[in-house]
Amino acid sequence: MTFASLGLIEPLLRSLETLGYQTPTPVQAQAIPAVLAGRDLMAAAQTGTGKTAGFALPLLQLLAMEGPKVASNSVRALILVPTRELAEQVHEAVRQYAENLPLSTYAVYGGVSINPQMMKLRKGVDVLVATPGRLLDLYRQKALKFNQLQTLILDEADRMLDLGFSEELGNIYRVLPKQRQTLLFSATFSDAIRLLAGQMLNDPLSIEVSPRNVAANTVKQWVVTVDKKRKPELFIHLLRKGKWKQVLVFAKTRNGVDALVEKLQGLGINADGIHGDKPQATRQRALDRFKASEVQILVATDVAARGLDIEDLPLVVNFDLPIVAEDYIHRIGRTGRAGNTGQAISLVCADEVNLLSAIETLTRQALPRQMEHDFEPEHRVPDTDASGQVVKKPKKPKKPKTSSGGKRNLGKWVESGDASAPEPSIKPVRKVPVFNTGPRKKKP
Ligand code: AMP
Repeated sequence: MTFASLGLIEPLLRSLETLGYQTPTPVQAQAIPAVLAGRDLMAAAQTGTGKTAGFALPLLQLLAMEGPKVASNSVRALILVPTRELAEQVHEAVRQYAENLPLSTYAVYGGVSINPQMMKLRKGVDVLVATPGRLLDLYRQKALKFNQLQTLILDEADRMLDLGFSEELGNIYRVLPKQRQTLLFSATFSDAIRLLAGQMLNDPLSIEVSPRNVAANTVKQWVVTVDKKRKPELFIHLLRKGKWKQVLVFAKTRNGVDALVEKLQGLGINADGIHGDKPQATRQRALDRFKASEVQILVATDVAARGLDIEDLPLVVNFDLPIVAEDYIHRIGRTGRAGNTGQAISLVCADEVNLLSAIETLTRQALPRQMEHDFEPEHRVPDTDASGQVVKKPKKPKKPKTSSGGKRNLGKWVESGDASAPEPSIKPVRKVPVFNTGPRKKKP
């Protein structure tokens, strides 16, 4: 199959030739004709499958072939994405595909000054990539009108809901023209996503290019069990032993990112970190340098987990497991992209067994475990069975309770502004429950 046989016009075929795309990926083969035919889409496609071109190419073709010239402060197509980084990345892809077409493209997101964005929108933009919060700000400040909008694309819709954007999405949805084409892309399909799809889509065509909630099978995954306090040492040991060239590392908290980066830099290792506390420009610079292979190790919270496209990234390390199991799929989706193979290693301590079992249930596989010589954990990580359930050992008879002892802290609420709390989102949207499932401390 060729891109030409999917009905794409010559200016787009030329852009694809420049980019070296020869054959459409499965999601492109399904999405391109359907979008060109004007259908709404509900697509289950992981990042790395080529989904951006799957929606952007037919979108650009429709915009180039039909519809009026864009009016001032108007947009003709809107691509909503969950994070600033993804906004930049999707915009860059759209810009490249549109290279030979007379269409304007732009990206808006929070964390940077709104004024230049307002100025730029004055002329109108054919394709606008936006994060939901900043889009609403611009709309409320009358920098944007939607009366010319003909296509809405929700990219990484599951992540938008995870980040607490459902209210913003509802507000945006209310001000968009009812007559429009809508395409919804999501790596995972929860009930909440299906509900959103039910409200937003009109007789959608469903596309599923990978089995539901299954991680890309081009990524070899395994777990190394270790005690929590020895994770940094184990990471450095594996880095040296494996002679890792370039690694994207995920840590749970902003403090965790900073501490690991500091430790690595202290050893003369070329490392940098990105998380939600860092200014946008610093985050982008770290990412650009990592992409250009000027940084060997990039440590990130899940802010960086979605959609970032780093060419030929061979290895992802989960220094901590993610709180939300779906994030595991997104994290490891940074490697093994576009047909390449990759590796994903998770350093797992006993505290994390419930997170591990949630991931194994979601991906419907037991992750192979290894132990590294000299790093065998003192606190054993309990077994999980093939369906990802923690295998419970028969209970020991209970000791009688004393008035002060014997109680466990079963859960605490952590404010998301706390740098030692799991970094859940690009802005504090909700409190995250953290359950202490770790081994009980011995009584003195
Ligand atoms: P995406 O899933 O949209 O983030 O795309 C993942 C990567 O695959 C990007 O680097 C794209 O440039 C690349 N890509 C997308 N479609 C193709 C194709 N048909 N042939 C080769 N590379 C592609």
